[in-house]
Amino acid sequence: MTVLKGYDCDIVICGGGVIGASLACLLGDANFNVVLLDREPPKKIESKADDSRILAVTVASERILKTTGAWSYFAEEKISPFREMHVWDENGDGKICFESASICEPVMGYIIEYNVIANALHKRISCLENVNYISGVSPKLIKKEIDAINIETDNGRKLKTKLLVGADGSNSVVRKLCNINFQKHDYEQSALTCVVTSEIEHGEIARQRFLSDGPLAFLPMKSPNKSAIVWSAKPQRIQQLLKSNKTVFHDELTAAFGNKLGLITESSERKIFQLSRAQADHYVQPRLALIGDSAHTVHPLAGLGANLGLLDAASLAEVLIDTFNSGRDIGRLQVLRRYERWRKGENLQMMYVLDGFKYLFENQFQSVQWLRNSGLDVINDMPIVKNAIMARAMGLNGSLPRFAKSYN
Ligand SMILES: Cc1cc2nc3c(=O)[nH]c(=O)nc-3n(C[C@H](O)[C@H](O)[C@H](O)COP(=O)(O)OP(=O)(O)OC[C@H]3O[C@@H](n4cnc5c(N)ncnc54)[C@H](O)[C@@H]3O)c2cc1C
Repeated sequence: MTVLKGYDCDIVICGGGVIGASLACLLGDANFNVVLLDREPPKKIESKADDSRILAVTVASERILKTTGAWSYFAEEKISPFREMHVWDENGDGKICFESASICEPVMGYIIEYNVIANALHKRISCLENVNYISGVSPKLIKKEIDAINIETDNGRKLKTKLLVGADGSNSVVRKLCNINFQKHDYEQSALTCVVTSEIEHGEIARQRFLSDGPLAFLPMKSPNKSAIVWSAKPQRIQQLLKSNKTVFHDELTAAFGNKLGLITESSERKIFQLSRAQADHYVQPRLALIGDSAHTVHPLAGLGANLGLLDAASLAEVLIDTFNSGRDIGRLQVLRRYERWRKGENLQMMYVLDGFKYLFENQFQSVQWLRNSGLDVINDMPIVKNAIMARAMGLNGSLPRFAKSYN
């Protein structure tokens, strides 16, 4: 695709994290001329597999990442498949176990470091002549015209394009410069993440225990005794865990996980994140679209934030490719609204489901505790319902973009 006269490129994407870089690959492959901006260069992959920013990646995301061409750059030892997920409650003996084999799928998903995905996407981008990656810059001014959008960066660079995509995370500058309100609900919870070594092997099973003040997840890594943990609780409790020495931390973690994997014997550097749910009032304006965390954030209890963002990227790419092929202007509001209607509804639905889970499991009324434990057992004994929930969480059904449906 040749850039129209008077424009510097077809599309500017601001934010080269996993979501913005994925969109750049999908659009680059479709021959759009793309400029990808980021205020930072991609982070180097740690030499040890101990980076605590680790993502659970669904089957739908696997298909999207394969379509981007990035998946083939992942080293085999950096991808950890999980085939089962066990969920249970601290108060009671209710339990639910999902197994990918019960819906004839080889895996439920994969555990992969954020930096491994980001680096692979950037390797792919460096092979795409029509994607120009510029790091160390941030937009300072955004000015719209009828047929174009103008971006001025903090180092004085000017870009005129047909469409600007904000993929610059939850503190999106693009969203702020375009005056789009971000409705935030503070969960009054923080999450602590790190990689731990356990006495007992994880057996490629993802596990989540709901404690009274938040969920504790163990995500299996390639090494049979290593898991990435995400521990959500009240901010004071997380601060206390952050500051505690290793012995105390390992003991507290072993106890909080009910000794499920035996003693915790080692752990990497602990990091904390504030947790909130948020949704932009609008995902689109004329010549502008928001994707990923710049449009919405969710609780990490189901490990879905980046997966929803990848579906945004794949849906927007589909809308833009189809629009271009039918000879229409990719920056028109009617075109972009198709993307907004599609993804906002899906994301909102997921947010409410996750909130429902969160409040149900944090409720300390005895009757609710009894109900949810019985509920877990009842669902566990209903294969049709259980398999439907699992297929949805794996991204195998719902209103999927074509890049998430299959990979050729
Ligand atoms: C504790 C925790 C655990 C999680 N676990 C999972 C999980 O298991 N699975 C899952 O799917 N999701 C998970 N998530 C959510 C996931 O991390 C995010 O949804 C995902 O990283 C969002 O990607 P993004 O590219 O939209 O934003 P980001 O990853 O935040 O990337 C934004 C990019 O924009 C750049 N940028 C920022 N500001 C500017 C600017 N002004 N100018 C230019 N560039 C800019 C940044 O440098 C960065 O490269 C988790 C989140 C938390 C907090």
